[in-house]
Amino acid sequence: VLVAVGRRPNSKIPGLDTTRVASTRKGFIETDGQRRTAEPTIFAIGDVAGEPMLAHKASHEARVAVEAIAGHKAVFEPRPFRPSCSPTPRSRGAG
Ligand SMILES: Cc1cc2nc3c(=O)[nH]c(=O)nc-3n(C[C@H](O)[C@H](O)[C@H](O)COP(=O)(O)OP(=O)(O)OC[C@H]3O[C@@H](n4cnc5c(N)ncnc54)[C@H](O)[C@@H]3O)c2cc1C
Repeated sequence: VLVAVGRRPNSKIPGLDTTRVASTRKGFIETDGQRRTAEPTIFAIGDVAGEPMLAHKASHEARVAVEAIAGHKAVFEPRPFRPSCSPTPRSRGAG
């Protein structure tokens, strides 16, 4: 039986303190709408970039970041409503 009382962003990344990347008090890495950090060549997506800590939010942020890196004008727009539980790639098709 696994009982979880919460999760924290894993933002204590070796070497990150030598960059301009900034974190919030809770440990989330601060990003702009394209998921670019204060260090222009470093992007952050997924759990480490803020709540909600969900797989589909991470995937969407990743697409936005890649499009931004490719020079497109993509912006991550948080939606007021989203599923709080969805199949992850690993669980899809199982059972
Ligand atoms: C038990 C559980 C159930 C969940 N169920 C759902 C669900 O049903 N639906 C849903 O949408 N979300 C669910 N989630 C949340 C979902 O798993 C996460 O939101 C999602 O995996 C975040 O993706 P990520 O890429 O940000 O982080 P991760 O998937 O955690 O990937 C981060 C990767 O970075 C690696 N890493 C860490 N530190 C370093 C380092 N210093 N150097 C190199 N690599 C490093 C890690 O090993 C890991 O592979 C669940 C989470 C848990 C814990």
